[in-house]
Amino acid sequence: MLGKFVYSNPTKLYFGENSLENLPQELACYGKNVMLVYGGGSIKKNGIYENVVKLLRAGGKTVFEDAGVMPNPTLEKLYEGCRIAKENKVDLILAVGGGSVCDYAKAVSVSAYCETDPWEKYYLRMEAVDNKIIPVGCVLTMVGTGSEMNGGSVITNHAAKAKIGRVFGDNVFPRFSILDPTYTFTLPRYQMVAGFFDIMSHILEQYFSGTDDNTSDYLMEGLLRSLIHSSRIAVQSPEDYEARSNIMWIATWALNTLVAKGKSTDWMVHMIGQSIGAYTNATHGMTLAAVSLPYYRHIMPYGLAKFKRFAINVWEVRPEGKTDEQIAQAGLAAMESYMRELGLVLNGRELGVDETMLDGIAQGSFILDGGYKVLNKDEIVEILKETLK
Ligand code: NAP
Ligand code: FE
Repeated sequence: MLGKFVYSNPTKLYFGENSLENLPQELACYGKNVMLVYGGGSIKKNGIYENVVKLLRAGGKTVFEDAGVMPNPTLEKLYEGCRIAKENKVDLILAVGGGSVCDYAKAVSVSAYCETDPWEKYYLRMEAVDNKIIPVGCVLTMVGTGSEMNGGSVITNHAAKAKIGRVFGDNVFPRFSILDPTYTFTLPRYQMVAGFFDIMSHILEQYFSGTDDNTSDYLMEGLLRSLIHSSRIAVQSPEDYEARSNIMWIATWALNTLVAKGKSTDWMVHMIGQSIGAYTNATHGMTLAAVSLPYYRHIMPYGLAKFKRFAINVWEVRPEGKTDEQIAQAGLAAMESYMRELGLVLNGRELGVDETMLDGIAQGSFILDGGYKVLNKDEIVEILKETLK
């Protein structure tokens, strides 16, 4: 049964080839001072930077650059961004990049005018935002996180070995996001497939929870089927517009809060994956890939009916002559061969995990209770050991 909920998503999307042409009309809605946030320079190589700056100049904006946002943005970088935003009284933060750049822009937007330490207030204590919020707009260049249409913002504090994802309310969602699938063509294959698995994981984290009948599960099965189909095409032909545009759209819908409405969710793969990230700084999607199969095999007996449904409806496993458990296992086996086909990292050692870290990673994993089995720390260590085999 669907629970009670409020649904609102204020992010305006501009989707399709050349959708950057809509940027001027958005810029016109904000003041003169724009903070241009981007990563390590990929946008300079592929020409996106030049096109964005041209439009900012034509719109009469004063641009303050904040470059060098790293994958898995750090707390130190956040403090630096807050200084730039506040000193220059910025009216709009324009994030041009992937999830890291978008997440970071949201973190700066709520933290610049925070009177106490934003890490403690907004990431450790998860308090509501009660200070001025600087509006954020995104030009997306990497697909996976859904950050372009949600309130998620993940920040890594290396000193504390903590990577924490905060989900802010819709007052922090990007005001607008520009999604041109051709911008993703230059992504290195490793990043591309890591993003594909981030999408899959977002859907699975919301699917593998609850035993009720709800429309969201049917929507998610459709999103998964489309993702599996298009990602198989994209790994063969990265410039296939049809496949890449479908994947960009799936990523947005996987995590723009719609499919979670009225149902319970799990999120333990992300909790363990983020803790691995805090220890290794590994690519987000790959940490999820390494954890997923051991985790799902571990919880499968507790949610057997859903794993059976997943096998049949998503992976087209034929149920005839099989027990429920055999059907469920065949579904996870199909998922494993798909993951190998994409070239995802299934072994934690390739991400820099070793035996000495396991207790710390388990300790740093927040334990949530929406999945089919509430884990204890020992079970997390067991799952992590499986990733090292
Ligand atoms: P990312 O960290 O934003 O980007 C990964 C790499 O891809 C960077 O090195 C970047 O290079 C490069 N790149 C991006 N676009 C490119 C392009 N068009 N061509 C060539 N290279 C390109 O990756 P992400 O997976 O999108 O974001 C990961 C972060 O998001 C993690 O911190 C994760 O925990 C978080 N996350 C957030 C949510 C949420 O709901 N908000 C959900 C899941 C994960 P440059 O730096 O040079 O641009
Ligand atoms: Fe994710």
